[in-house]
Amino acid sequence: MRILKFGGSSLGTPERLRAAAAIIRRAQAERGPIAVVVSAFQGVTDQLLALAHQASHGDDYQPCFAELEQRHLTAVKELLPVQRRSPLLTQVKLRLNGLADLLHGVSLIAELSPRTRDAVTAFGERLSAAILAAHLTSDGFPAECLDTRPLIRTDAHFGAARVLSDETYAALRAHFATPHATLQIATGFIAATARGETTTLGRGGSDYTASLLGAALAADEIEIWTDVNGVMSADPRKVPTAFPLPGLTYQEAMELAHFGAKVIYPPTMRPAMRARIPIRIKNTLRPEVAGTVISDRREPHAFPVTGLTSAGGIALVRLEGAGMIGVPGVAARLFGALARRQISVILITQASSEHTICFAVASDAAQTAAEAIADEFAPEIQLGQIDTPAEPDECAIIAAVGEGMRHRPGIAGTLFQARGAHGVNVVAIAQGSSELNISAVVAQADETAALCAIHAAFFGPFTEEPAS
Ligand code: ADP
Ligand code: ASP
Ligand code: MG
Repeated sequence: MRILKFGGSSLGTPERLRAAAAIIRRAQAERGPIAVVVSAFQGVTDQLLALAHQASHGDDYQPCFAELEQRHLTAVKELLPVQRRSPLLTQVKLRLNGLADLLHGVSLIAELSPRTRDAVTAFGERLSAAILAAHLTSDGFPAECLDTRPLIRTDAHFGAARVLSDETYAALRAHFATPHATLQIATGFIAATARGETTTLGRGGSDYTASLLGAALAADEIEIWTDVNGVMSADPRKVPTAFPLPGLTYQEAMELAHFGAKVIYPPTMRPAMRARIPIRIKNTLRPEVAGTVISDRREPHAFPVTGLTSAGGIALVRLEGAGMIGVPGVAARLFGALARRQISVILITQASSEHTICFAVASDAAQTAAEAIADEFAPEIQLGQIDTPAEPDECAIIAAVGEGMRHRPGIAGTLFQARGAHGVNVVAIAQGSSELNISAVVAQADETAALCAIHAAFFGPFTEEPAS
């Protein structure tokens, strides 16, 4: 069994969807049983979020709704011959009516709960899976849309729900144990609570759905079909000389993804890693290219660094003051206060002088972090032992990732020289104890320049292919 997942980038237009369908047909014919997972059409989840937002703010959401409706109806018309269109058209229209009712409800109460937001965003995958299944069927290749909500069980943390794996695996296995004559086209991204409320697995979550399905069914491989030739040495949209990596370990992929490489959603690696199932990243537009294999095998790399990644929208907060020196428990109090407010800390550094603790949080959590500090350290701030935290700057984190960095001196030096040579100022650095990752914080405005400079320093300025 193989799981093939097609992302929104592979389903952006009817032509791309046809290319995906051709890959599915070939895979089933040549390589045995498969199951397919799909995302919403490209951009549709964003559109649904915009619609929900507009409805809850009393804005006129009809133009945006009409666009979404038109896009799906056009896809149906382009992908199915006129004589086979009508059942799908009815189904799509009914579903869009359901969405319209939900949005109307949101506009009436002028409020959008996380639960309703998930119910709205779920329409993207419910529509795309139905359209792809009908297209394959009408092409003589019977396929069935599988709504994964009754099978993938989560808690009620709407927006990024936690999967309850035992129940989920049992339900997925039971579904696939009953003989299905037709190919299953499963909705990615969406799930449900025990009470049947729709949840979503976080943005980019269809990759995770594919991995859950792969682990439940003990698949031989999970294929993530997207719009690039694999996991690249850096985001090709930011670094034109980035090149595809033939292979990387689950840990490397997890680090790259965690620090911003959008090509794969970080939680995807967990189920696959536990079940030791390789994940292959492939390009829908160039299926002949081998792609990248993520597995527990460590490929010999020509470079000590496997890849670079960056993420913007970070605020770097500094806690400093003469009163911190030699006082035990400051860090514990700080991070305790942040944890109580559910703030996730992305990176931490502490100078050996103990005078400053620097930490990075998502920009939208910066205000809450400042409040947490003000509350926790109110007595020390009043006595002037700890400074009132300054307004944090907008920053980006650049991370160099690679198993080959372990016990290899000079990596940090190369990183800093590269930036120094290009006049990019490094605000803070941190190295994970695993030595798998060195991260540097730079001003948001310097993100792309710093990334390109570091890429050139590690891999050479005009690298097109890996040197090994
Ligand atoms: P999909 O819709 O198929 O899920 P995504 O847009 O989520 O696709 O992910 C693919 C995109 O990830 C690429 O187009 C690329 O711009 C971006 N990306 C970021 N970092 C990397 C990287 N290291 N390697 C490959 N792609 C990357
Ligand atoms: N459609 C969802 C999103 O845009 C899930 C995914 O693309 O994987 O986040
Ligand atoms: Mg994606």
